[in-house]
Amino acid sequence: MRIAVIGAGIVGVTTAYELASDGHEVTVYERRASVAAETSFAIAGMVSPGYVTPWAAPGMRRKVLCSLFQKHHAVHFNPGLSLQTLRWMSKWWRACGRDQHQGNRASMQALAVFSHARLRDVTSRLKLDYERTDGCLLLLRTDQDLASAQPSLALLRDMGIKHSVIDREASVKIEPGLNPKTPLHAAIHLPDDEVGNCRQFAHLLRTVAQNLGVSFRFHTEVDRIVPGGRPELVLHTNTSSDSDQASVMTDGVKHGFAATVPIAIQAEREVVDAIVVCAAMDSSKLLVPHGLKLPLIAVHGYSVTAPMRQLDSHPDHGPQSGIVDDHYKVAISRLGSRIRVAGCTELGGHPTKHNMAAIGTLYKVLDDWYPGIARLSRAQSWKGARPMLPDGPPVLGLSGLPGVWLNLGHGSNGWALACGSARVLADLLAARAPAIDTRGLGIDRFRR
Ligand SMILES: Cc1cc2nc3c(=O)[nH]c(=O)nc-3n(C[C@H](O)[C@H](O)[C@H](O)COP(=O)(O)OP(=O)(O)OC[C@H]3O[C@@H](n4cnc5c(N)ncnc54)[C@H](O)[C@@H]3O)c2cc1C
Repeated sequence: MRIAVIGAGIVGVTTAYELASDGHEVTVYERRASVAAETSFAIAGMVSPGYVTPWAAPGMRRKVLCSLFQKHHAVHFNPGLSLQTLRWMSKWWRACGRDQHQGNRASMQALAVFSHARLRDVTSRLKLDYERTDGCLLLLRTDQDLASAQPSLALLRDMGIKHSVIDREASVKIEPGLNPKTPLHAAIHLPDDEVGNCRQFAHLLRTVAQNLGVSFRFHTEVDRIVPGGRPELVLHTNTSSDSDQASVMTDGVKHGFAATVPIAIQAEREVVDAIVVCAAMDSSKLLVPHGLKLPLIAVHGYSVTAPMRQLDSHPDHGPQSGIVDDHYKVAISRLGSRIRVAGCTELGGHPTKHNMAAIGTLYKVLDDWYPGIARLSRAQSWKGARPMLPDGPPVLGLSGLPGVWLNLGHGSNGWALACGSARVLADLLAARAPAIDTRGLGIDRFRR
């Protein structure tokens, strides 16, 4: 089949790879200059199947309301929330109920476990090196944090995910660089989880996909899709004089650097056998004109990345792998010789304007655990838009529009879920039974 994939974030790249592996002729359309240039750009990099759970969960409503009254908090509300965000929040509120949560959690976790296995399989077969390290340590500052973690621990036990609850001393054996002055009551160690550079993985997999025949059309924006037996795309190409380097510059537009200047625009139509929409937040623009309204909003988050200082006297002074400060919901990860701190949940607000309070929380958590480790003069901050559905799981499979398939709405877990989602989508498209039960992952749940 001739298949068009719209979007070259981590979800689009993995989808293109799996479809090409099945023998399809695949073209990826991406408006940016390269892969992983938007939300998949500078994320924490955690692949933690046991922590892939819906944001809509029992107890979350109270946590979100409490965070309104704390100085350093995980959730930021910007004034003047749109009607769309308020509607999303009312759906999210309902999805926090115990029964709905359990179903959504089961769907997400089955996908997360499968996805991690698929990531490992792809990585070892293709020998991809993407700054990955093994293990994750979830830091619990107080006994109260440990008490709040009990439902998560029960979940890890239910899922059979290898983990142990350890004290401060054992935590320091795993992460010798942790600041001894910051109180640490306990930690949950997940030795089989991993941290890796999502953007680097996307670049490596793009090359593999190209070798399988996938064509990537960058600087190409799909303006419209026309569903049908042979669906069509209406698109235009912004041809600019820049090369791959332009992705950095184009990202710069988003993050306040210089812009590249388009020098020509060409409009075209393409007829294919199937379209797979992997356009994250902007999927709605393509689907709404056909009456398909998904409750998808951007939940922004931030990261700060900096080179680590080299200290010959303390070679273990940085994180060995992934760390999550459970109290602030902030992740700290080692990516090669760099350290990245990421987190924050921001509703509403401008897509590019940085919330200094949120970034302040990232710096505080980094300073609490690894004071002085980062060369802050060379730190880069980044803001990304998590494509979030109110109930948690992404949408995978047929859209209900002829010839149009969906792989989108991965929220906080797109990297952890990408390889599995892509394989499931490819199996569904080939009318094969996927390796996991896909109930709860389809679009039908929004039609009820
Ligand atoms: C601060 C932060 C930390 C995170 N940490 C983690 C983590 O540790 N682990 C994890 O699993 N997840 C994490 N996430 C979530 C993860 O980043 C997302 O779920 C994931 O990147 C979504 O991937 P995507 O491919 O759907 O979207 P994107 O990467 O945004 O890709 C969509 C692509 O579609 C393109 N596009 C859109 N419309 C069009 C069009 N009309 N024509 C052509 N191209 C189009 C865009 O340019 C874009 O490149 C984090 C997110 C944030 C913000």
